[in-house]
Amino acid sequence: MPDLALPIDRATLPQGLGGALWRGVRGTCPRCGGTHLFARILKPVERCAMCGQNWTLHAADDFPPYIAIILTGHIMAPVIIALGLHSALSAWAMMLIVAVLAVVLLGSLLQPAKGGVIALQWWLGLNGFAGKAGRDEAAPA
Ligand SMILES: [Zn+2]
Repeated sequence: MPDLALPIDRATLPQGLGGALWRGVRGTCPRCGGTHLFARILKPVERCAMCGQNWTLHAADDFPPYIAIILTGHIMAPVIIALGLHSALSAWAMMLIVAVLAVVLLGSLLQPAKGGVIALQWWLGLNGFAGKAGRDEAAPA
């Protein structure tokens, strides 16, 4: 698929990796920040409606779930410890609370993690973005 990204005002490009990552985590186009990166929950749009960037070039694969699982584990560990130490809940009630919290947290972290991974790949020119890195486009002329 040819790359038909439209020319873009340099001021709308992210000024660094952090800016690109933040746009991806928020679910907006990492290149222009103008519109949604995702067409469905975890499916990115084929092309940005505003800047024309092709987002089918990403290869996030299993990395976003790894990030979401690691974050969920680190957030849930103190919750589990606190529940165990400071509540008189039965083991079944605790397991139910922890399972529901973990599923909700994991589900809510997946899309931001995928957006961040796509932004990272675009910024660094990885996978299908090779030769079209965001950092090269945003670099001072
Ligand atoms: Zn865009």
